[in-house]
Amino acid sequence: MWPKEFDYVRASSVDDAIQQTSDNTDAKILAGGHSLLPAMKLRLSEPGKLVDISRLADLKGISANGTLSIGAMSTHAEIAASADVQQYCASLATACGMVGDHQVRNFGTLGGNIAHADPASDPPTVLVAAGATIHIKRSRGERSVSAEDFFIDLFTTDLEDGEVITRIEVPNLSGHKAAYVKMPHPASRYAIVGVAVILEMDGDTCKSARVAVGGATVSAMRASGAESALSGSSLDDAALNAAASAVQSDISDALMGDVSYPESYRQAMSGVYLKRAVKAALG
Ligand SMILES: Cc1cc2nc3c(=O)[nH]c(=O)nc-3n(C[C@H](O)[C@H](O)[C@H](O)COP(=O)(O)OP(=O)(O)OC[C@H]3O[C@@H](n4cnc5c(N)ncnc54)[C@H](O)[C@@H]3O)c2cc1C
Repeated sequence: MWPKEFDYVRASSVDDAIQQTSDNTDAKILAGGHSLLPAMKLRLSEPGKLVDISRLADLKGISANGTLSIGAMSTHAEIAASADVQQYCASLATACGMVGDHQVRNFGTLGGNIAHADPASDPPTVLVAAGATIHIKRSRGERSVSAEDFFIDLFTTDLEDGEVITRIEVPNLSGHKAAYVKMPHPASRYAIVGVAVILEMDGDTCKSARVAVGGATVSAMRASGAESALSGSSLDDAALNAAASAVQSDISDALMGDVSYPESYRQAMSGVYLKRAVKAALG
């Protein structure tokens, strides 16, 4: 499992990384290397040049000032341990704490995770439910895209060549009830099914709900039928059963599966995990 020969450069700044990947479409950004290097060893990706952004201070750090701002080079372990993330969007801390193992959490970054867009990843599901915004820099300036529009398909995002994710912005959800639950693959811990819910409560009534599903689907996606079934309800058994049924319809056109966990199984489990997510959020 040797990768194809490649050049390696360490970017001196974000602009330098942008220039080096804009000038050469055969070049790729290297962050923590925990998705890109395995893909290169399998020859699924064969870049001629890696542009290492791992030491760029501009891409690091987590701050909370009305909204949560997470530098793209923040590792899963840093996000899981961050008091700011736990306060503003605790379910993102939960999701990052569930990623892989210690090594993956200490090297893998949020920017790399979302740019890679593995459908079985955990953070994208929470970011879509949370209404997060992805901030991107390119030679023509900066742009922002909602997490919902960022994830397009299997390993496919809105990101273009020569663009660098700089930070991920998450609204302050501290007043909401939220949870992320997943069925982890027994070997890799990737999500076979992952469900994130964010509930705005008014006493015992759910004023509004945001629901996203990953793992079962080709990319993290909103489940609007489930959201409608939960919104305005007291989250009793009837509402949970309706939402569990709705979520299976919501994802029916985007299902993915494999020999061990076929589409129909993942679809059924999305209903089970939706109920668990709501109960975890309330619990
Ligand atoms: C054994 C194992 C288990 C895992 N289990 C899980 C799991 O349970 N849940 C889960 O969610 N994930 C899991 N992962 C995936 C892990 O989360 C990702 O590998 C990691 O987060 C990717 O980040 P990275 O910094 O290593 O990215 P890299 O591997 O360096 O890069 C990945 C891709 O993103 C691009 N990229 C990186 N940073 C940027 C940026 N700032 N701007 C633009 N493009 C960029 C690169 O060019 C490359 O295409 C697992 C990985 C392994 C190896």
